[in-house]
Amino acid sequence: MTDTLNPYAPPKATLDPLSGDNLWRDGKILIMRQGSTLPPRCVKCNEPAELPIKRRKVYWHEPWIYVLAIFCLLLYALMALLVRKPAMIAPGLCSIHRKRHWLGIALGWGGSALALFLMFLGGTNDHFALMLLGMVVFLGMILAGIILTRILQPDRIDKDFVRLKGCCQAFLDTLPQFHG
Ligand SMILES: [Zn+2]
Repeated sequence: MTDTLNPYAPPKATLDPLSGDNLWRDGKILIMRQGSTLPPRCVKCNEPAELPIKRRKVYWHEPWIYVLAIFCLLLYALMALLVRKPAMIAPGLCSIHRKRHWLGIALGWGGSALALFLMFLGGTNDHFALMLLGMVVFLGMILAGIILTRILQPDRIDKDFVRLKGCCQAFLDTLPQFHG
């Protein structure tokens, strides 16, 4: 009996992201087929994600492109723009990790603005220690902002697959092993 004659047979073209056709794990890497969706679970702790889940565009380029930055930052930026590969992803976040994401944005922008003000104060008052403190705080806030705001970082993107770093183990454990 064929599927077309059996009304109870599961549909062949399933869109279930957990069907094993679109999502895999490979060690610490999450692999998804281009255009596929992620389950509505927090990628950081595997708890139910807050809805709606924001879609984000991520880019990746071959790591050797970074070498260009040693010679010329502008050349690197142009080259990276030309050869970078995009992917649309919608990683779920629970309320706690979503708050942490926004805290990172607030800390990164607010903290670095405050640090720039300290540097300005130190500079205008010939206060070298204050200027130095402002510089250190500025770098620290930028770094804290980057660490707290990042969700999933692309490890590689090609026309078929998107490989992403930054998923928690519990989330990865629910996915089948990738046999590429
Ligand atoms: Zn979470």
